[in-house]
Amino acid sequence: MLATNNPGKVREFRRLLEDTAFTAVTPAEAGLCLQVEETGSSYAENALLKARAFASAGRCLALADDSGIEVDALDGGPGMLSARYGGPGLDDEQRTALLLMDLAGVPEGQRTARYRAVVALAWPGDTGVQSACFEGVQEGSIAFAARGKGGFGYDPVFLVAGGRTQAELSPEEKDAISHRGQAVRAAMAFLAECPG
Ligand code: IMP
Repeated sequence: MLATNNPGKVREFRRLLEDTAFTAVTPAEAGLCLQVEETGSSYAENALLKARAFASAGRCLALADDSGIEVDALDGGPGMLSARYGGPGLDDEQRTALLLMDLAGVPEGQRTARYRAVVALAWPGDTGVQSACFEGVQEGSIAFAARGKGGFGYDPVFLVAGGRTQAELSPEEKDAISHRGQAVRAAMAFLAECPG
């Protein structure tokens, strides 16, 4: 089960799990309604909180990610607070606009940034819920204006090698290089090695 109902993440997880032995089921599809407070002090702690809660409630393998964008000119922010940047009332487009405003006057060479994702797997075991974490990092930089319709979140302002924004990539191109793609592939390699 995916330990998220975030539509952007769900879309990507479904694609990334397409050719694996696993079927992605959302909590809503499984009839599970669970609010997990993200009280951890790292991506891994938050991802584990979510994965363990859903594995325990659903009695099944659960996959969660905690992710964010780290902008060097903002001392690594918004980082773990990326989903709440600017306050709880903003949508993706408004958060992206705020990021561009906060970087106004920052020259091209100083707009470096990265996406980081930690994917946590959790599953019920004989001695309680077991878990493991996998990290993916994607380097890039922040554009001066939003471009493209793909992806979600900060993708329209996240420049990748070659000068396109992440929102201008096809879904397959994003998956091949994204932080989430890297972390999910590492998690799947771990599961492939697991007995049973
Ligand atoms: P959380 O993992 O639920 O705390 O949310 C992470 C936040 O980071 C998302 O809501 C987005 O704002 C941002 N983010 C994470 N991954 C991506 C991505 O692949 N594209 C764009 N934004 C992302």
